[in-house]
Amino acid sequence: MPSELTEIQLSELGKQLEMDFQRLREEIRQELLASDNEQYIEVAGQVHDREEESVADLLVDVNLAVIDKHIRAVEDTEAALVRLKRGEYGTCPDCGGDIPYERLKAYPVAKRCQQCQTRYEQTHARSDHHTL
Ligand SMILES: [Zn+2]
Repeated sequence: MPSELTEIQLSELGKQLEMDFQRLREEIRQELLASDNEQYIEVAGQVHDREEESVADLLVDVNLAVIDKHIRAVEDTEAALVRLKRGEYGTCPDCGGDIPYERLKAYPVAKRCQQCQTRYEQTHARSDHHTL
């Protein structure tokens, strides 16, 4: 089912996602540079050059608690940009319903509608807890 979003809304959300992506990428780069770790500083140089959709892959081996939440945010943003390109953006994969524009505007990386997201979090709350 195609999303109910208008072209203008989609383009606005896309711009927002692009901006968030650039900002997160820059924040991660700065944090890598500040890590005082040669390997991470090298990764920082690559973060700058990378196209979207591969920054999260690049950072898989970086084990810095300080950028952990930024990496997750970058992954979410990249995933949203991919959905946008595929025309899947704004459609909830769980129920097939539309995600309201108001929700996307407040939270552009939202993958599910509010109802399915709440259910998802209740179901996955335990398994999301890493035990490394
Ligand atoms: Zn849903």
